[in-house]
Amino acid sequence: MVESLPKIDRSKWHKPTYPGHYDENATHYEGIRCRCKKCGISFVFSAESQKNTFEAKQRYPGWLPTLCQTCGEQWGFLKQNILTFECQWDSHRADLASDQEFLNNWLASLKEAQGYGKNDFNSRIRMLIKPL
Ligand SMILES: [Zn+2]
Repeated sequence: MVESLPKIDRSKWHKPTYPGHYDENATHYEGIRCRCKKCGISFVFSAESQKNTFEAKQRYPGWLPTLCQTCGEQWGFLKQNILTFECQWDSHRADLASDQEFLNNWLASLKEAQGYGKNDFNSRIRMLIKPL
């Protein structure tokens, strides 16, 4: 059983001395059960994707996914939308400041992001609520 799981190579971690999810005697990754912040289903952060996340992508060793795969993909699209709003705002702020439709759509996207547990936009939301 253990032989089929990927080996932990701490030297490839972003921070090799940090224990992360494993004590110092652990030699192999194991699936970790997580709960999706968006839809509430429980899912497994697999041993293979941990190896990829912590060794190839160099994520902080204590990181855990907060979204299941489906919600993660939906969040990816929503995040792109939000980035587009930000870009448009940066280049056409003077025109867009009075564009109620633009501001409403932007605000709706940011509020939707909160459902995914993404609260980085709270100051943006406050800014948008004022002029509306
Ligand atoms: Zn989900």
